[in-house]
Amino acid sequence: MADEFDLIVIGGGSGGLAAAQRAAEYGARAVLVESDRLGGTCVNVGCVPKKVMWNAAEVAASLGDAADYGFRMTADGHDWPLLKTKRDAYILRLNAIYESNLAKHDVQLVRARAHFIDEHTVAAAGRKLTAEHIVIATGARPLLPAIAGAELGITSDSFFELEQRPERVAVVGSGYIAIELTGIFAALGAHTTLVLRGETALKHFDSMLGEVTLKILRDEGVEIVTNAWPQALELNVNGALQLEVRDGRLLTPFDSVLWAIGRAPVVEDLRLERAGVQVDAYGFIVTDKQQATSAEGIYAVGDVTGRAQLTPVAIAAGRRLSERLFGGKPDRHLDYENIPTVVFGHPPIGTVGLSERAARDAYGDDAVSVFRTTFVPLYNALTTSKPHCDMKLVTVGTERRVVGVHVVGPGADEMLQGFAVAVRMGATKEDFDDTVAIHPTIAEELVTLR
Ligand code: FAD
Ligand code: NDP
Repeated sequence: MADEFDLIVIGGGSGGLAAAQRAAEYGARAVLVESDRLGGTCVNVGCVPKKVMWNAAEVAASLGDAADYGFRMTADGHDWPLLKTKRDAYILRLNAIYESNLAKHDVQLVRARAHFIDEHTVAAAGRKLTAEHIVIATGARPLLPAIAGAELGITSDSFFELEQRPERVAVVGSGYIAIELTGIFAALGAHTTLVLRGETALKHFDSMLGEVTLKILRDEGVEIVTNAWPQALELNVNGALQLEVRDGRLLTPFDSVLWAIGRAPVVEDLRLERAGVQVDAYGFIVTDKQQATSAEGIYAVGDVTGRAQLTPVAIAAGRRLSERLFGGKPDRHLDYENIPTVVFGHPPIGTVGLSERAARDAYGDDAVSVFRTTFVPLYNALTTSKPHCDMKLVTVGTERRVVGVHVVGPGADEMLQGFAVAVRMGATKEDFDDTVAIHPTIAEELVTLR
């Protein structure tokens, strides 16, 4: 029958596309159900359009430095609508490429919202799709705080719908999205306030990263409000947004308030109970190391599992799962240790492995040696602004195995990938020291730390 498959994938984002296409490469009959634009969060409202905006912010920074390098220039503002039009057109091209890639792989595409009928049957577009294996890759969506007026704020999804740059914007949150979008707004000329409910940012990483990042943002004119737990958001008599925080402070005036306080799994309409798929207290689908859920033959990959919500993680988990199920590789699975990641701030923040705190907790203070440096990059020798670049290596044991590499500075985004290979391979501080430096670069500091 036409509706019998070897694999059903629910969700056409990073993880779902990867799982379906890899399965099809091994000859599996795969069908993918997607209710929205192909490519999911990353392509439509995540990594890709964000990186375009980050690039624009980097250009703005270079323009700011141009006079120091001898260019005589007059600035004539920034055309946000033009940038948005070009960005949207690029994303539409990507959507089409993803669709043709599915066709090339012979993966059937069903454009519908899917839900389970039982553990081997999925309903979509009035059809009953059956398969021995089903992958849930339905992703996550931005959270709104449970406070009065939350709906007056926007999220990262609606950030990409902004037709104009808001003049006065508050970003609430302290993680990836808050730091990235604060940097973009500020670089493109908005008066930007970052609202933290605690004192620090990026608290899941080495503490150096958040401390240095907040200093850089302050130096660049971003207002940072700490210990500010949102209580209510409302419009004042002048039509501006005002954010009330628990201690009674009123933060205002804003044209836009953006919530960046985490993401919740998209599972509500899947009717998981019919298939016996368990979720945790936050609704994320519980998976084991092989991405298997509590239901036989049903797996989950990507953001919906709540583990390392990153595109390459979703892709790697999806591909490896299909290699295990259809490629004759029974042990294939994703190792979630040492995943490198970058927060695209200005400058970018790159990190892999253990923070200093985590290494001390895991190995004990005596076993941990830390190497740290802070310096003004050569590029800034000529510029008026003198941002520092900060680096830290965390090593353990007498052999000084490198278990953490943390960088805030220009090029950290491109630099980290290679260092992540070294960490994964168990490189020691001596291996770093024995590697001849590339001069003059920022990265060379990581192999010359003393
Ligand atoms: P998604 O990509 O969200 O795909 C899920 C898909 O499932 C969606 O298309 C949805 O429409 C579909 N779906 C849901 N329910 C159903 C249903 N019932 N039936 C049919 N279809 C359904 N990661 C990085 O690595 N680098 C970055 O720079 C980066 N930047 C980001 C910036 C932002 C602003 C955001 C929000 C995220 C960013 N991420 C980044 C994270 C990255 O986008 C996600 O980790 C990744 O997209 C997760 O992929 P996924 O396949 O799990 O889910
Ligand atoms: P994060 O989990 O990174 O950060 C959210 C933070 O917001 C929390 O850690 C918390 O920090 C703070 N917070 C939570 N609730 C509240 C509240 N009610 N009021 C104020 N602050 C609150 O979530 P994001 O939304 O930034 O991003 C979601 C995920 O998307 C990321 O974890 C990442 O996996 C992915 N992503 C990846 C990117 C990349 O790879 N470059 C870019 C963007 C997103 P605290 O406890 O310190 O207050």
